[in-house]
Amino acid sequence: MYQEDCDKMQSIVRYSNITKSYGDLEVIKGIDLDIAPGEKLAVIGPSGSGKTTLGRMLMTLEVPTSGTIELDGELLWHIRDKERLIRANEKHLHRMRGSVGMVFQHFNLFPHMNVLRNVTEAPRKVLGMSKEEAAESAVSMLRKVGLEDKLKMYPAQLSGGQKQRVAIARALVMRPKVMVFDEVTSALDPELVGEVLEVIREIAEEGEMAMMLITHEMDFAKEIADRVIFGADGRIVEQGTPEQIFDNPQSERLQSFLKRFR
Ligand code: ADP
Repeated sequence: MYQEDCDKMQSIVRYSNITKSYGDLEVIKGIDLDIAPGEKLAVIGPSGSGKTTLGRMLMTLEVPTSGTIELDGELLWHIRDKERLIRANEKHLHRMRGSVGMVFQHFNLFPHMNVLRNVTEAPRKVLGMSKEEAAESAVSMLRKVGLEDKLKMYPAQLSGGQKQRVAIARALVMRPKVMVFDEVTSALDPELVGEVLEVIREIAEEGEMAMMLITHEMDFAKEIADRVIFGADGRIVEQGTPEQIFDNPQSERLQSFLKRFR
């Protein structure tokens, strides 16, 4: 999916001239990025280049320093002069948040809740589902990630790969329009990486949800992404199809980055 194609249709996500600083450190230096509905976008780049920050702003876990982020045609952030011009009203933001799901490197499960409760909590609290309705949705998502037999287990009783699959089910149950996967295999033992990637692959194949896949798994990015962006120093340095990015990198920055994975 190319930028021109994205421009013609309604983007599900649109970052316009986004900057983000932590104190004096400017980590995002003016990014424009559109994601089309259903598009699978891989985000690659060196550590510290702002990839996680990009996802966290979409999840409203970080406030941009300036710029605009639209989600499904509505303003999520519109910030000028360090002021939150639109941080919408809480009700609006609440609804928008439900459109984005995020899975983190370190799972972030609720340790005192069993698997089923971890997954039913948000549909009950945020979507107002009944206990039965939430349980039904949760079980169907846990089945999708292969964990329907672990409903009563607690996170501490699960392997890293299983925890991450619960985290994926927990995000999916909200039926988001966009999912951010933030280096979801980085904290896993190598033998557990495959089972998590397999689940993501299956979700990607279903096709309807857009994905922002922040990853160091280059082979996986190549396999499932429609488009890859390479970011460095807070900017998008290069973007294109997986073939363009991995087989024919143009910038020296990307060429030397990719050498580390060969
Ligand atoms: P990446 O995901 O590409 O590794 P991040 O978005 O996590 O990059 O971080 C970009 C830079 O911002 C890093 O230098 C990191 O240390 C810094 N950073 C991230 N979050 C915070 C924070 N909450 N406070 C201060 N600095 C942060």
